[in-house]
Amino acid sequence: MSALCASGIDNITIEVSGSEIPIMDGSAITFIHLIKSAGIVDQQAPKEFIRIKKTIEARQEDKFAIFEPHKGFVIDFTIDFPHPVFKTEDSHVSIDFFQDSYVQDISRARTFGFMQEVEALRSNGLARGGSLDNAIVVDEYKIINKDGLRYKDEFVRHKILDAMGDLFMLGKPLLGKFTAFKSGHELNNKLIRKLAENPDTWEVVTLDLENDDTAHLAKQYLDSKFEYESADYIT
Ligand SMILES: [Zn+2]
Repeated sequence: MSALCASGIDNITIEVSGSEIPIMDGSAITFIHLIKSAGIVDQQAPKEFIRIKKTIEARQEDKFAIFEPHKGFVIDFTIDFPHPVFKTEDSHVSIDFFQDSYVQDISRARTFGFMQEVEALRSNGLARGGSLDNAIVVDEYKIINKDGLRYKDEFVRHKILDAMGDLFMLGKPLLGKFTAFKSGHELNNKLIRKLAENPDTWEVVTLDLENDDTAHLAKQYLDSKFEYESADYIT
């Protein structure tokens, strides 16, 4: 869903025949490649966005997730794990998707898990294909994968990848800023549901190159999609 969100897809049917989506390498890069290979069809209807009008937030203990008004689409994410592998200087990333590249900066960030959790999933019959080929696995002190990380802050970049997937549930691309501190799917989804229940905090808009108010943003959005179309894939 993260790859679909980044690809600007807002109309798709997906059929799944198994109980889990294949994890591939634990990142979104293969799905980006597959979506690109399948091709994206432009439709006639003007593209609609959800524009955040008022700040809205969801909290859970010390964790939070916030939508704020912003001209463009930004995700700002901070993680905080009391563990030697998660360094403070690599725990925060902010990506402006109208400027930065999802393909380059986010799509290759792999999911991660702790040794004990992987064992628990397996004993429940899940993650059966799980291995060091499709996740970063961390024990009590270090990263087990012998090739290490793809980005020095790959963990928080993967949390942004995850958040993009959650935002796909909005049904339309976001115009706004999403800020998260120690959030995950559950809290992200709580915020998305809260947004749906508070229609005074957002509106549906179309970005139009012919309209003075939106032309600049529309151009930035289209340029970022062009970057996506032409990106070289790193395998
Ligand atoms: Zn994930």
